[in-house]
Amino acid sequence: MRELNLKAMAKINLGLDVLRRREDGYHDLRMIMQTVCLYDQLTLRVTEEPGITVSTNLGSLPADERNLAYRAAQLLLEEFPSGHGLQITLKKHIPVAAGLAGGSSDAAAVLVGVNRLFGLGLTRGELMRRAVRIGADVPYCVMRGTALAEGIGEKLTRLPNAPACHVVLAKPPVHVSTAYVYGNLHADRLERHPDIDAQVQAIREGDRRRMAELMGNVLETVTVPAYPVIAEIREVMMRCGAMGAMMSGSGPTVFGLFDEQEKAEYAYRELRAGSLAKDVFLTRFFQTADSSSL
Ligand code: ATP
Repeated sequence: MRELNLKAMAKINLGLDVLRRREDGYHDLRMIMQTVCLYDQLTLRVTEEPGITVSTNLGSLPADERNLAYRAAQLLLEEFPSGHGLQITLKKHIPVAAGLAGGSSDAAAVLVGVNRLFGLGLTRGELMRRAVRIGADVPYCVMRGTALAEGIGEKLTRLPNAPACHVVLAKPPVHVSTAYVYGNLHADRLERHPDIDAQVQAIREGDRRRMAELMGNVLETVTVPAYPVIAEIREVMMRCGAMGAMMSGSGPTVFGLFDEQEKAEYAYRELRAGSLAKDVFLTRFFQTADSSSL
């Protein structure tokens, strides 16, 4: 039986700026994306019978076309019919609807896996061009590592690996819809924008402290007033010695960057012991040299 095990890793945004709202309702963004080593586990199995099945350890997740992993498999199997089907087993560890692109990353892993299992011979670039049909973050999740994302997130420029950091992720028990966040953002009235170009420069120079000092996410102007717990978690991280702490994507997960493992462990323990966050993880930046681990 042909089968493949894959890791679908989460992402955080080291910087997130919104330039403008477009005519089509989307926003033009500038973001610095970073993969972290928190991952969902997928097993893909080729079946004799055609058709796609998804089974997951998370009962609340749909197992049909609404699941992004399913959609990714469907996209390639329809374009390259083989007469066979695919069984997807998905073990979720990345919190859902958290600003960590868990669903997008599952989809990206399925694209990469189906390409390999069925011998489709598509290049990474060819997979990325198809990936955008599933979601704006999916091409980046195929690419992984450190990248500048522009447009709606699909125009990607690879950057050198960001300087190594220990990362604590903490998701408060609130539900923040991405549509609510963008719907309530006043892109034309933002008083401050993160300096994404300076942060790119800091990454190119391997300047970890400066990279962390330049962190900024304009979506916090919507989420922090609505959910003060986000700022409270940030404060705990900073008190525990984080170089920087901020919400990822449209939230509500907050991440802290640490230069030393001990400080990160301390923050992790503090947050685990408290009641601000339900899901707390200790991880690190993924460096693209380990990309064989997908
Ligand atoms: P992003 O950072 O890209 O906005 P997110 O981390 O906020 O993503 P996801 O966890 O990717 O959000 O999922 C958001 C929605 O997508 C959920 O409502 C969920 O039901 C749906 N979804 C579909 N497939 C998946 C999947 N494989 N894993 C997680 N969510 C999925």
